[in-house]
Amino acid sequence: MLNSMVEISAWIRSIRDNGRIAFIDIQDGSFAEALQVVAESSELPRDCHNGAAVLVRGTLVKSPARGQNVELKAEQIFLLGNCPQENYPLQKKQHSLDFLRSIPHLRIRTNTFLAVARIRSFLAQAIHRFFEREQYYHIHTPIITSSDTEGTGELFSVHHKKGTSFFGTPSYLTVSGQLAAETHALALGKVYTFGPTFRAENSNTNRHLSEFWMIEAEAAFLDIGGLIELSTSMLYYVLYELYKECIEDIRLLSTLHTPELIEQIEHLLTTSYVRISYTEAIDVLKSAKRNFTFSPQWGMDIQTEHEKFLCEIHYKAPVVIYDYPRAEKAFYMRVNDDQKTVAAMDIILPYFGEIVGGSQREERYDVLLCSMKEQGINPSHYTSYLDLRRFGSVIHAGFGLGFERLVQCATGMRNIRDVIPFPRAPGLIPD
Ligand code: ATP
Ligand code: MG
Ligand code: MG
Ligand code: MG
Repeated sequence: MLNSMVEISAWIRSIRDNGRIAFIDIQDGSFAEALQVVAESSELPRDCHNGAAVLVRGTLVKSPARGQNVELKAEQIFLLGNCPQENYPLQKKQHSLDFLRSIPHLRIRTNTFLAVARIRSFLAQAIHRFFEREQYYHIHTPIITSSDTEGTGELFSVHHKKGTSFFGTPSYLTVSGQLAAETHALALGKVYTFGPTFRAENSNTNRHLSEFWMIEAEAAFLDIGGLIELSTSMLYYVLYELYKECIEDIRLLSTLHTPELIEQIEHLLTTSYVRISYTEAIDVLKSAKRNFTFSPQWGMDIQTEHEKFLCEIHYKAPVVIYDYPRAEKAFYMRVNDDQKTVAAMDIILPYFGEIVGGSQREERYDVLLCSMKEQGINPSHYTSYLDLRRFGSVIHAGFGLGFERLVQCATGMRNIRDVIPFPRAPGLIPD
């Protein structure tokens, strides 16, 4: 590449022109930081401004400037699309993330959002590579469904514009592809789906969106132990690949936003996941001698303050908690022999929180029916699901990983709205 003639089409990020020589930073989406073009000022076309699209023809040479390896010595510059400066919202200064969130169509032109987008793309591809390596089939589960998998009622309805429901049937945007994935796991063996998911929860947190992407894996003949193995090795694989291949983007984001990012990723890659049962977790919390706002008691939901204590103070490691109280969890989770707990698991990361939730599914017809009745669920709405337990039922398990949460961990972006191109959340009106 060095000393060869190249042509690059890109957008101008900044220009410094001393009347004799001009330094133009350009970005075509592929550089972690802009590429410097050096040109004679007389070569600059009129209207060559910040934001304009240009084609530069020239030679790549070793750069004498500090902080960059190469620069482009321009011979010709053509203006492809100009960019009037009066109303262009992106100035050379660093804009706040709050301001950039108000212009999602333009924020992608900043170094931060380009790096996030490249990491997001890399992670999506790495996830597919992982499942291919593990011989999982990629399946597509429906977006329009009639069931509330999680039973929480946080559903968006689907209506015809004229006000009628979906051809007369109450229908919703999917909250999880799990039930559909189970049908395929019980025929194809090992499957995963990676699609959009919608939750009408009015949570204005840094970690919840109304529309997010979820990776859901489901496999037959897999128990909770195998599920923990699968999900932790997937996290390790994708973060390791990212660390190897995208270190420049990670460095850039740590410089711009999260100084501790590299250390946090390295910590995840070098520390084993601690596995504890819910009951052990409660015991550890009880003996912690801490003033928790919610004092730990068997049966309660483990709160963020408890997760933080376990991961960041007690174990100083990512923690997998399994075997949760039955009363807290969804009807489809497998009831353990003690009758009090179900084979559910969550993966909690230090300085982050829950990233994965999963469970072994109840494969016994009678027990499933019983759990449905206990939770007031009408079995007639789940006939196909119950059929799976009548015809060749076997143990099986699956997990859900929120893709944006993974991207948050990998980029260090604190607000989940900054790791999805067009965030949908309460108060954010779609354009
Ligand atoms: P949380 O406790 O954080 O609300 P959850 O237990 O309700 O999550 P699950 O039903 O277990 O979520 O969903 C599986 C995974 O999907 C979660 O572990 C998380 O990574 C992700 N997830 C859940 N809800 C959201 C959301 N509103 N926005 C983004 N990701 C989400
Ligand atoms: Mg939730
Ligand atoms: Mg949860
Ligand atoms: Mg969960």
